[in-house]
Formats: sequence, C-alpha cells, structure tokens
Amino acid sequence: MTIALRAREAAAFVRAAVADPRWQARERALAVLRVAALLAVPRTAVTAVDDERRAAHPRDALLLTATDPADPRSAYRFSLVEPRYTDEPLHLLGRCPDCAGEVPVREVRSLADLAAGPLRVTATTFLGNPGHRDDCRNRN
Ligand SMILES: [Zn+2]
Repeated sequence: MTIALRAREAAAFVRAAVADPRWQARERALAVLRVAALLAVPRTAVTAVDDERRAAHPRDALLLTATDPADPRSAYRFSLVEPRYTDEPLHLLGRCPDCAGEVPVREVRSLADLAAGPLRVTATTFLGNPGHRDDCRNRN
C-alpha cells in the first residue's frame, strides 16, 4: 500500500473517531495510529481502552495493546497518560519484580526502545504506580 493510500486510510479512521460520541475518541484514534506507526504494524493490530487504573482523572489515560502480526501470541501493552498531549511518552507495561503487578517498565519513544536491555524505570513512572499491589514496597 502506498504512503498516500495509508494516509487517506488514517485520515478516514480519525474522522470516524471524531463522529464517535464517546469522550476522547479522537485522542484514542490518534494514539492507536501513533503506536501502529511506532511499531510499524497495521492500525488494526492496535487496540485502545481507557486505563482507569493510571488515570488521575476519569479517562485521561489509555491502555494500548499491540499484537505482533508476525507472532500473534506476542503482544505489547502500553500506558499513555494525557493522550491529548502528543509529546507524552508511551510506557511499556511489564511485571513488577516484587509484586507482579502490571506497571510501566520502560519509556518508549522509538522502536529501538523496545529492544531487550535493562529496565529503564523512573520514580515518576514505576515507583508509586497504581499497577503495584497495595502492599508492594514500590507502591508508595
Ligand atoms: Zn510492585
């Protein structure tokens, strides 16, 4: 598919989202396109739902799931807080080594950031994240 055709398809996807009466539908559509572009996968490989666990206010965070078209058993889950700001980083979700809660383990701004390597967590994304169990030492 050409770039021009993919651009038209993306624009139609966003237009359809704008017609969606649900709150934040446009931001959700743009976040799906962003993750699809970042991972170089079709838009249909990415889904988005409200991330109520990490939202400071109702519906101000998204949980995005990308299924690998080359390996449908493999999926990547991302948290995106404040999706209306396009410079907000995506955070790859993984398991906390202490409580096994699903928490941000890596900031992802490019495909290269997904490559294996040491976890890159920060106090603002990992520590205190509501994905930790209540009794986890990383929760507070
Ligand atoms: Zn934990």
